[in-house]
Amino acid sequence: MESIRKQLCKYGKLVLQKNLAAGPGGNISARDGDFVYLSPSGFALDEIKESHWVKINLKTGKQYGSLRPSCEISMHLGCYLARPDINAVIHTHPPVTLGLISAGVELKPFYPDFVAILGREIPVVEYVIPAGEEIRQAVVEQIKKYNVVLLKNHGAVCVGATLKEAFSRAWMTEETSKMQAIGMMVGKIRYFTEEEIKGIENLEAEDYRKALLKKLK
Ligand SMILES: [Zn+2]
Repeated sequence: MESIRKQLCKYGKLVLQKNLAAGPGGNISARDGDFVYLSPSGFALDEIKESHWVKINLKTGKQYGSLRPSCEISMHLGCYLARPDINAVIHTHPPVTLGLISAGVELKPFYPDFVAILGREIPVVEYVIPAGEEIRQAVVEQIKKYNVVLLKNHGAVCVGATLKEAFSRAWMTEETSKMQAIGMMVGKIRYFTEEEIKGIENLEAEDYRKALLKKLK
């Protein structure tokens, strides 16, 4: 198993490679027991070296090392405190998703993996000032119930049991936005009915969902 710092470098690079953020935008973290490792402030996610990730004690808030953590530290810590089952938080500024949600378009299920990986619905939080208590509260409120939360006029927050799982959700959210935007441009998308959504969620389909999620561990 790769070290947590090594994994963070890998997924930090992937966030930029998959165009989920530009320049120094976005921030990611992972949890190991009582400690969280968060991207430092002022770095593009693909520039961060293993030693740069800022170690923080989740219980005391104590920070280690000389680098300043991302300004969204409060939001990251809030997610871990609200969800003992998650070990990774990925916050991105995905261009297509950001365009759609800021225009008031909601992402809705229209293919099976949407329901299986992203969930039956994706909440959109109204714009709040970044980097403070307001955004922490708004995100934590939703992250208690969902693995993907969209922030109007800002971006997305995706969580997972592993960095791979959180990253897959972040990437799939943006790919879904592309599909939905194309569908909306050329015609009218046939979204899943409630019955079709339940079909994916039901017991037989549960194996399908588990098999998909297993690939993400
Ligand atoms: Zn942001």
